[in-house]
Amino acid sequence: MKSDIEIARAAARRPIWEIGEGLGIPAEFLEPYGNDKAKVATPFIESLHERPNGKLILVTAISPTPAGEGKTTTTVGLGDGINRIGKKAVICLREPSLGPCFGVKGGAAGGGHAQIVPMEDINLHFTGDFHAISTAHNLLAAMIDNHIHWGNEQGLDPRRVTWRRVMDMNDRALRDIVCSLGGVANGYPRETGFDITVASEVMAILCLAEDLEDLERRLGNIIVGYRRDKSAVTARDLKADGAMATLLKQAVKPNLVQTLENNPAFVHGGPFANIAHGCNSVIATKTALKLADYVVTEAGFGADLGAEKFFDIKCRMAGLKPDAVVLVATIKALKMNGGVAKEDLGREDVAAVERGCANLGRHLENIGQFGVPAVVAINHFTSDTAAEIDFVKAYVAELGAKAIVARHWEEGSAGIEDLAREAVALADSGTASFSPLYPDDLSLFKKMEAVVRRIYRGAHVAASEAVLAQLVEWEEKGFGHLPVCMAKTQYSFSTDPHRRGAPAGHTVPVREVRLSAGAGFIVAICGEIMTMPGLPKEPAAEKIRLNAEGLIEGLF
Ligand code: ADP
Ligand code: MG
Repeated sequence: MKSDIEIARAAARRPIWEIGEGLGIPAEFLEPYGNDKAKVATPFIESLHERPNGKLILVTAISPTPAGEGKTTTTVGLGDGINRIGKKAVICLREPSLGPCFGVKGGAAGGGHAQIVPMEDINLHFTGDFHAISTAHNLLAAMIDNHIHWGNEQGLDPRRVTWRRVMDMNDRALRDIVCSLGGVANGYPRETGFDITVASEVMAILCLAEDLEDLERRLGNIIVGYRRDKSAVTARDLKADGAMATLLKQAVKPNLVQTLENNPAFVHGGPFANIAHGCNSVIATKTALKLADYVVTEAGFGADLGAEKFFDIKCRMAGLKPDAVVLVATIKALKMNGGVAKEDLGREDVAAVERGCANLGRHLENIGQFGVPAVVAINHFTSDTAAEIDFVKAYVAELGAKAIVARHWEEGSAGIEDLAREAVALADSGTASFSPLYPDDLSLFKKMEAVVRRIYRGAHVAASEAVLAQLVEWEEKGFGHLPVCMAKTQYSFSTDPHRRGAPAGHTVPVREVRLSAGAGFIVAICGEIMTMPGLPKEPAAEKIRLNAEGLIEGLF
């Protein structure tokens, strides 16, 4: 069997201007990076404002297992499938991060016969957006320590600097550091640390900004730390916003690539789905909606995190109205949610699938709360049995929805026609009446309660007096209208990653709250959330190399 990289390399790619032409983007508005990647120029994007929007289809999933459930693969496959049945579809995805690529998970450009290409470039340096984001982030960090060094006019309390540094690598050694050691010339020593670039607030800002002007305004709003009187110091106070926006001038433009079947895909931005909202950029999604009849996009992790944030953060802020949801499930993941160990997944086990379906049912019901119709995609693995698949179909039918087997990983678009037809029919049905879970004017704590009670089905939110006081203070300072961004394990509806299936009645502790004033949300940290991952004992990096022909091996 061919590996993902072998399949990707064998694909007959078309020049990127032909892909752009298919979308009606004149060649002079494409800024090519080589022959198979291009950024879309801003004047062209601005010229689209008056056009009607296509339909927006979200791909999300049941609670994931460590391997990933195939959301990206299904998003790509569905985009190809919709094009195959004669409709015009564009795919919108996040850009992969180098951390997971060299760690455990591998790349994030789809898999099998549903991939975007050039997969090597997309998974590595691509068009340099992550470099630009890291640099803009670290410029602000440098300006903070420099400001303190040169007399600290703003009165920033060095013990209360919240802005850390970032790099796009899994490196646990940098989680907590002391900077400015070495004497007077090197500034004032203080504790700080590094996060991975996808956890940077600059990443979230780039993905939520409407345009360059909005980007600069949001960058200025970033809170870098506090004075002794606890008043906030912003990036604007340090006069960093203009230079940061300058560094992001290219990065803010969406990247156009193609699928193995030469259909268009925008791959732009890639925020974490825990401490940030986990979706590709608003600019790319809005541009795609102007250029195609259907836009297929992915949200990170399971629907309790990814879809909820897509709806409550991205769609709320950007005024997007999703038309349909595709909820991806795999028989393997259902079995794991039904308590089967990883080693035993190869064996038929309908009873475990049945237990795992509680998780699927919960997510399906949750999506209904946002007023968007959904179809279940069974992302087919060769180990799935007919009895297991039939059970899922019957279970979903009982809930009033359809479950459709999709074989895009094995067959490309030919294997996903049924799902494509159903997704298009749902999106066209006009049955969607999207509304976010909670209104803007609910108190911040009540917003957290709404997510915990109605999505996670927990009994209550446990927060210390200090957390509650912090929320009230932010409300008094004018941040009460912001949505909340819950940072919770993706493996469970509870905060215990081992409680799979559909736990209910649990307590969700909010240990800490953070204000992302530039991105425009309040992060609620529920449990241990890693903003700088580490590498595993045998990282994927050990197998990645260039062969005698100079081709990359071991990337997956
Ligand atoms: P997610 O977006 O949910 O994290 P991905 O689409 O990136 O998941 O897929 C994770 C991994 O699983 C990839 O390596 C992909 O090739 C593989 N995969 C996805 N679907 C299938 C399938 N139907 N059969 C076998 N492998 C698959
Ligand atoms: Mg993915």
